[in-house]
Amino acid sequence: MATYNIFLLPGDGIGPEVMTEVEKVAAFMGQAGLASFNFERGLVGGAAYDAHGASISEDHMALAQAADAVLFGAVGGPKWDAVPYDVRPEAGLLRLRKDLALFANLRPAICYPALADASSLKREIVEDLDIMIVRELTGGVYFGEPKQIIDLGNGQKRGIDTQVYDTYEIERIGRVAFELARKRKNKVTSSEKRNVMKSGVLWNEVITALHKREFPDVQLEHQLADSLGMQLVRWPKQFDVIVTDNLFGDMLSDVAAMLTGSLGMLPSASLGETNPKTGKRKALYEPVHGSAPDIAGKGLANPIAMIGSFGMALRYSFGLGEAADMIEKAISNVLASGLRTADIKGDAASYVSTTVMGEAIVAELKALVG
Ligand code: NAD
Repeated sequence: MATYNIFLLPGDGIGPEVMTEVEKVAAFMGQAGLASFNFERGLVGGAAYDAHGASISEDHMALAQAADAVLFGAVGGPKWDAVPYDVRPEAGLLRLRKDLALFANLRPAICYPALADASSLKREIVEDLDIMIVRELTGGVYFGEPKQIIDLGNGQKRGIDTQVYDTYEIERIGRVAFELARKRKNKVTSSEKRNVMKSGVLWNEVITALHKREFPDVQLEHQLADSLGMQLVRWPKQFDVIVTDNLFGDMLSDVAAMLTGSLGMLPSASLGETNPKTGKRKALYEPVHGSAPDIAGKGLANPIAMIGSFGMALRYSFGLGEAADMIEKAISNVLASGLRTADIKGDAASYVSTTVMGEAIVAELKALVG
């Protein structure tokens, strides 16, 4: 059985609390002979600032580079509001994304039937929803130059951001989306604003050509990003994989997130390019939520987003799809049994702690393994 090296960066607030539950899941998988993991632990965010005066130390960056995958909790909190901008907690996450060249952000939006009533949309619209948003993460308007505010000298200023995409950036994110679709329902919806943006025209052309050349077996459709936003809340189940740029992906993935009810339920993966020699790719897995300082230390955090992120690591970094399916099934069964953390309790009279939820998922895994 192969051993996978995972670098754990629990971070701040509820990060360490939810990471502890992942370690229990991983320990069980080791005992059950499903997989074997070697964990190293590091500091990131406010915790790293307190220890080293940086949001991540060079030593811990090197460990992140060397690992088979990084599991990241969350960073930030009021304690570090006044630290210098360059070493603020969030800078640690941005550095990881940049140095590991994580250009593909995968955000699944899954609505477990037991939680369909927690969505702001009607049950029939969201029940059993399973879509994947693939967002380009290292290009586009967030990074394009020029990016500045110019003083026009007449009492006016001009703010400039530049939306810029090169062919290779669109091709590599498109490839991630098409490959994912092949393992799902075989459909990709590509989204841009080609009606008003040149980068959208190029995006559309490149995705269309890539599809024709390498993925003709996958169904491809194009939707303008504004219309896609509308369709996401009208009938989200029409989608399988959605691929879009950094800006639209940022917004559309948040819309999709809310279809599923709670931030505490949402995992994510950020992937780099596959090394042709080793077949491996850099990857970081993290829940979508932040450090939730309002509930930190109270045992109230929902560990499902963090455990789901670990499940994504099994699937996308280690090729352990069956083990990942088992984790999703265990989560689904525990929710169906009625167990709830506070964030997803809805009208229920009681709720359980982070630890009880984590241990219930491990117990369910044991039952599934038999
Ligand atoms: P947040 O996601 O931390 O919390 C938003 C709300 O959701 C809070 O009420 C919180 O209690 C609740 N919540 C979040 N995760 C939960 C979970 N697992 N279980 C139960 N409830 C949960 O966002 P915020 O309040 O805007 O930010 C708090 C801090 O986190 C800030 O310092 C922010 O910069 C940081 N942040 C970090 C990341 C990250 O590390 N990737 C992402 C977003 C925010």
